[in-house]
Amino acid sequence: MSSAVMQGQSGPGGGRPGVSIRRRAILLILLVSIPLISERMYSLYAEREAAVAATLEHLQQVATNVGLSQSETIAVATGIVQVLSRQAGSLLTNPAACDAFLHGTISDLRGVRNIMIADRAGVVRCASARELVGFDFSRAQHIQRAMAEPGPVLSNFLVSPRTGRSLVSVSEAERDDRREVQGVAVVSLDLEWMSETLARAGSAPGVTVVVVDGNGVGLARYPLRPGFVGSPYRAPDFLASIAGRERGTFRDAGADQEARIYAVSRVPGTDVRVLASMREADAVGALDTRILATLATFLLVMALFIGLALYLARRMIVAPINRLAAGLLAYGTEGAQDLRDLRIREFEPILFAYEEMSRRLTAQTANLRRMNNRLAALASTDGLTGLVNRRSFDVQFSEEWVRCADAGQSLALVMMDVDHFKLFNDSKGHLAGDEALRRVADRLIAATAGTGHVAARYGGEEFIILLAATHISEALEFAETLRHMVLTLGIPHSRSPLGQLSASFGVAAMVPTLDVSPDALLARVDAALYDAKRLGRNRVVGAREAPMPQMRAL
Ligand code: GH3
Ligand code: MG
Ligand code: MG
Repeated sequence: MSSAVMQGQSGPGGGRPGVSIRRRAILLILLVSIPLISERMYSLYAEREAAVAATLEHLQQVATNVGLSQSETIAVATGIVQVLSRQAGSLLTNPAACDAFLHGTISDLRGVRNIMIADRAGVVRCASARELVGFDFSRAQHIQRAMAEPGPVLSNFLVSPRTGRSLVSVSEAERDDRREVQGVAVVSLDLEWMSETLARAGSAPGVTVVVVDGNGVGLARYPLRPGFVGSPYRAPDFLASIAGRERGTFRDAGADQEARIYAVSRVPGTDVRVLASMREADAVGALDTRILATLATFLLVMALFIGLALYLARRMIVAPINRLAAGLLAYGTEGAQDLRDLRIREFEPILFAYEEMSRRLTAQTANLRRMNNRLAALASTDGLTGLVNRRSFDVQFSEEWVRCADAGQSLALVMMDVDHFKLFNDSKGHLAGDEALRRVADRLIAATAGTGHVAARYGGEEFIILLAATHISEALEFAETLRHMVLTLGIPHSRSPLGQLSASFGVAAMVPTLDVSPDALLARVDAALYDAKRLGRNRVVGAREAPMPQMRAL
């Protein structure tokens, strides 16, 4: 099988390289499978987005719930400072009774660490715990704010300078009619307890809840993590991005750089924010695995299909086409197989067309061959007489020369020239001359028919006869026969001494050798003819060099 037939790219047609059937099969598979994969992937991604949305909603719920529970704790503390602040001045008049009152109050409250009342200078004068008395708050920011503005003030994260524990506090000042500060009530909240309430409100598998103050300092975290409380939570830009939000959801990288989904909610009435978050992998990890598995399965199936299609295309299409091509190439030669054995219905029109084409070609070739033969015959025949012409004689003479040289046989020539033919033309006209030449030629044809001798018109009124494997004696006899034949035509020629048309003959023969040119024999026969003319015409003269030259005269 020729590779040019097998490969479309270098096919016999040339030009643009073709697209192979195998590539077309792959394209077909891709056209069918890509929409299927896309549709499946699209629905899986939609499912994933829905799962993310559901998770975000859940987180938002958690953040809001935690925010509400924190705000309850703060509301309790705020309620206490509001009640205490209204009587701060009077409570300060009797510190001992005040201490006892505050101590009694705190024992009923969960999550409240201390209750204190400071004088207008910011120094604690009575407190729920004795050791707090005398503590100077004058430099504390949240106390300064409480003295400066009406209503309760929630501090940011604080560390108790006395116990080192983490706190936030709510404080409010009491003012007299002239708006002079009489005293400040301070309630500090226990952040550990805050974390416990967080666990109650926000516990859900995989969910992390953090509470941060207005400065972004961690107040509580669930699940608990040592060192979280009191440390800045995350980078400032992350905090800046949530600072302005009342509530909302977003996706970001977590501290461990893993993708997380977040919900943020502000604790009502404060700068405190609750963040509930979850690793995206926990929320949609199973779905992601399914997406990957589906994609891998699709790709695997597609690869299998492509492999199968390539195999089948080769077995069922390409191989039969190659066999068809090979069969067509071998068509008409020996050993060509019957192409109907391929048993492929689609090939039948091709076979039919090919047979039809080849039938037409055969007919055309036969026609051409016939015309060619006719042309060859025309080219080798003399128009006037129908004898072999000079050109064809030259060819046959050379061939016969070589053949007789090989065989060691004698080759003879008889050269014949009509006598006084110019005078014949002059007296009877050229047409009559032509007719006479035709009649002489007819006799030559008749005389040589079946002998193997070749009679040719050598030129004008000269003829030559090639006699293969013939000795001089036979050739002389043959010439003599011809001379008689011309005479017996009995064509009147008033201007010839004989009164009728005659011819003179030169005869020569030799065993050719390849080192001698055929022209040598021609020269000798020509000389013999010249002698025949010179000796009186109407005679046969053998070449002079020939052994035993013979002369015959009438
Ligand atoms: P000789 O006996 O010496 O051969 O005399 P000749 O007149 O035959 O010889 P010459 O060579 O003088 O003249 C040959 C003539 O043959 C001249 C030419 O007109 C005539 N001839 C040659 N070819 C043709 C032809 O095809 N048709 C006719 N009608 N005449 C021809
Ligand atoms: Mg002549
Ligand atoms: Mg002549």
